[in-house]
Amino acid sequence: MTDDARQDDDPVVRPGTPSFQCLADECGAMCCRNPYRVDLGENEVIRLARQVDVSEVLDERASMVLMLQPEGDACALLGDDLRCGAYEVRPNGCRDYPFHLESEAGQPPRVVRDLACPGFVGPPMSESEYIALVDSLNRRSEMD
Ligand code: SF4
Ligand code: SF4
Repeated sequence: MTDDARQDDDPVVRPGTPSFQCLADECGAMCCRNPYRVDLGENEVIRLARQVDVSEVLDERASMVLMLQPEGDACALLGDDLRCGAYEVRPNGCRDYPFHLESEAGQPPRVVRDLACPGFVGPPMSESEYIALVDSLNRRSEMD
């Protein structure tokens, strides 16, 4: 297996992994559509409430979960323009996507990517870009 092939289907992110560019217009904002589940912590609900009426977008059966549009398969906050209707206050999972930190007992946390996202088409990630990504994911997880 070549290095490039490994990077294309390896969920573990490291310097050299293709960098990410959101291609929402091409994928139709796939990550904001069913099947999906966006869980929120208390602070995320408070942040969301600065911009939207949370009683209209949180699933009443599970009050810390974003619901789907009444008619449709997408998050209640996804606009017709395929942009998030609450971008500035969106949940942490949406900020981090398509990356997340994965921790296994006794192992240092590692960054993994969702291979279902088609946006890994950019040039290989540099060492400094990788460090910046890890820093931002770490900062976010410390705020949770
Ligand atoms: S993050 Fe990935 S799946 Fe989501 S809209 Fe962008 S390209 Fe599509
Ligand atoms: S809150 Fe915004 S980014 Fe998150 S799933 Fe909904 S539309 Fe997408």
